[in-house]
Amino acid sequence: MEILDAVVIGAGQAGLSASYHLKRRGISHVVLDADDAPGGAWQHRWDSLTMRDVHGIAALPDSASPADEAGRANVVVPGYFGGYEREHDLPVVRPVRVDRVTSEGDLLVVRAGDRSWTARTIVNATGTWSQPHLPYYPGIETFRGEHLHTHRYPGPGHFRARRVVVVGGGASAVQLLGEIAPVAADTLWVTRREPVWRTDDFTPEVGRAAVALVEERVRRGLPPASVVSVTGLVLREQERAAERLGAYARHPMFTAIEPDGVRMPDGSLWEADVILWATGFRPAIAHLAPLHLRSEHGGIRLDGTTAVQDRRVQLVGYGPSASTIGANRAGRVAARGVAAWLAQSESSASSA
Ligand SMILES: Cc1cc2nc3c(=O)[nH]c(=O)nc-3n(C[C@H](O)[C@H](O)[C@H](O)COP(=O)(O)OP(=O)(O)OC[C@H]3O[C@@H](n4cnc5c(N)ncnc54)[C@H](O)[C@@H]3O)c2cc1C
Repeated sequence: MEILDAVVIGAGQAGLSASYHLKRRGISHVVLDADDAPGGAWQHRWDSLTMRDVHGIAALPDSASPADEAGRANVVVPGYFGGYEREHDLPVVRPVRVDRVTSEGDLLVVRAGDRSWTARTIVNATGTWSQPHLPYYPGIETFRGEHLHTHRYPGPGHFRARRVVVVGGGASAVQLLGEIAPVAADTLWVTRREPVWRTDDFTPEVGRAAVALVEERVRRGLPPASVVSVTGLVLREQERAAERLGAYARHPMFTAIEPDGVRMPDGSLWEADVILWATGFRPAIAHLAPLHLRSEHGGIRLDGTTAVQDRRVQLVGYGPSASTIGANRAGRVAARGVAAWLAQSESSASSA
C-alpha cells in the first residue's frame, strides 16, 4: 500500500496553491478533484459573469493573473487553471468525488466510492459551490412559481417580463438585480438585515480588517461568515440602470411564502413568478464528518489553516481564506503545516 505524505481534496484556487507549495517542498501528494475539467467553481459560474464583473482573480503562485477583461469568467479562469496545472505538472486526478475521510491509527484514509488513498495528512480545499444554501420559510413548498438559487442562475433573459423576488444581502444579489431589473416586469429585493453600502475605497486595509473578522470567528470555532458579508456592498457602473429603476430599495424579509407570491410584514401580498435565492453557500465538508472536527459552536476551529481538533488536517479556502487571494496564501500556509506535522511525526518516530 502506497502511503502519501498528503492528499489534497479539491483543485480550485486553494487546492492548486497548496499543491504548488507541497511540490516545491518535495512532499508526495495527489490532488483529487470532483469536477471533470479544471477550473474549480469558476467553470460553473453563470455565463453573464464576465472578467469585468469579478472582484479580481488573484494570481496563482509563481504566475501572472488572467487579464482577459472581456471574456466570460467561466471560460477565462478554467483556461488559466488548466494551463497552470500543466505548466507545473501538478498531480491532479479527476473526476474523483471524495465521500469520506477516516482516521486509521496515525493515517488518514480518503475514500471515493470503492477507491481509496492513504496519507499522513490531508489538505481540504473543497470550496462551497456544491453546497448552495436555501433557508426555509413557511409555505416555501406551496409556491406555484419558480424557485432558483444563484447556483443555477440562467442569465437575465430567463426573467424577461416576470415578477422576481431576489432574496439575500450579498454581492451576488446586487449583481444579479443589476442584470434582471432592466428586463423583468418588476423586482423586489428582500434581505434579513439592512445592507451595508461601502462608500469608501476598498483599500487593502479594509480588506485585511474584513478578513480579520472572519479569522476571529474560525479561531473561536464558529461557522465562518462570508468575507464579502463583512466588506460591504458597492454599486458599479453596470448596476446604475437597475438603480435608476429603484431595484436597490431594500425591503425586510417576507413573513411567509404563498402559492402566488410572498406575504410582507405589513400584511400585503407581493405577487411573484420567480423567487431567486441569492443566499450563498456553505462549506462542502460533509466528507470530513467521520473526523469529528466540529467544535461545540458548529464550526471547525482553526489555528492558521490547521484543524485544532486533528492537526493532520489543513483547511484552505475555508472562512477567512474563502477568496482567491486568501486561498492562495492559505495554500502556502497549509503546505508549511503539512511539513511541520511530517517533521514532528518523523522525529517522534525516530526517538521512540
Ligand atoms: C459568484 C461568485 C463570484 C466570486 N467572485 C470572486 C472574485 O471576483 N474574487 C475573489 O477573490 N473571490 C470571488 N469569489 C469567491 C471565490 O470564488 C472563492 O473564494 C475561491 O475561488 C474558492 O476557491 P476554492 O479553491 O476554495 O474552491 P472552488 O473553486 O470551489 O474549488 C473547489 C474544488 O473542490 C472540488 N470538490 C468539492 N467537493 C469535493 C469532494 N468531495 N471531493 C473532491 N473534490 C471536491 C470541486 O470540484 C472544485 O474543483 C466568488 C464567489 C462566487 C460564488
